[in-house]
Amino acid sequence: VDVKILPIPDPKTPVSKAFTGFIVEADSPGIQIGRKEINMGQRCSDTRGIVFEDVRVPKENVLLAEGAGFKIAMEAFDKTRPPVAAGAVGLSQRALDEATKYALERKTFGKAIVEHQAVSFMLAEMAMKVELARMAYQRAAWEVDVGHKNTYYASIAKAFAGDIANQVAADAVQIFGGNGFNTEYPVEKLMRDAKIYQIYEGTAQIQRIVIAREHVSKFMV
Ligand SMILES: Cc1cc2nc3c(=O)[nH]c(=O)nc-3n(C[C@H](O)[C@H](O)[C@H](O)COP(=O)(O)OP(=O)(O)OC[C@H]3O[C@@H](n4cnc5c(N)ncnc54)[C@H](O)[C@@H]3O)c2cc1C
Repeated sequence: VDVKILPIPDPKTPVSKAFTGFIVEADSPGIQIGRKEINMGQRCSDTRGIVFEDVRVPKENVLLAEGAGFKIAMEAFDKTRPPVAAGAVGLSQRALDEATKYALERKTFGKAIVEHQAVSFMLAEMAMKVELARMAYQRAAWEVDVGHKNTYYASIAKAFAGDIANQVAADAVQIFGGNGFNTEYPVEKLMRDAKIYQIYEGTAQIQRIVIAREHVSKFMV
């Protein structure tokens, strides 16, 4: 039996009830997989649009119930945002490591650039951000492990790690100077790869909406 889908969705349905989750077999008739998108970064990741045209899905493939899709998606984010934040921290750590090694090698004005305080303080700022972002995703993951609702911590981790990945990668390019802008060196790729962490899995702005809502709700008991 197929799920009955109303031909005209009710525009007054609240967003929390407006979506239904399904498991859809990838080879179902009517599914079209789009071309590989050419993205700015993370180019090993295959990104494609998927078109569903008159795809028939058996009723038993509905997840939980009709109208439960939004809740399922939001609860999934609680589990997926901490590992996405971990990915952003990995990128940031690599940017810091590359910048530190380069700062020890590159000499200007008769000394390694790491000996210029302006450069070593940039490394210190980068290190602070990387360590704090790591603690943030570990806290968010720990909340899952112990069975707590972690929406607040998951969004903090994702927002912070995404933002600092962009700052730290840009700082790494800065420490490499002109070489940082060159594809022969590793850091311009990190800067391109970092941007998506502020977009997917909920944008930087959406994370702030979630964090503010979760924070304020604690004061409204
Ligand atoms: C490489 C890549 C991989 C992706 N992978 C997946 C995937 O695997 N699964 C999946 O489901 N999606 C995926 N996405 C989609 C991604 O999650 C969305 O692009 C993202 O959520 C933003 O939605 P949007 O593009 O429609 O932007 P929009 O929603 O149009 O947002 C545009 C801008 O407006 C801001 N904005 C929007 N609404 C508000 C608001 N209420 N308040 C404040 N600011 C707001 C946004 O923060 C953003 O800056 C992927 C996208 C990319 C680029």
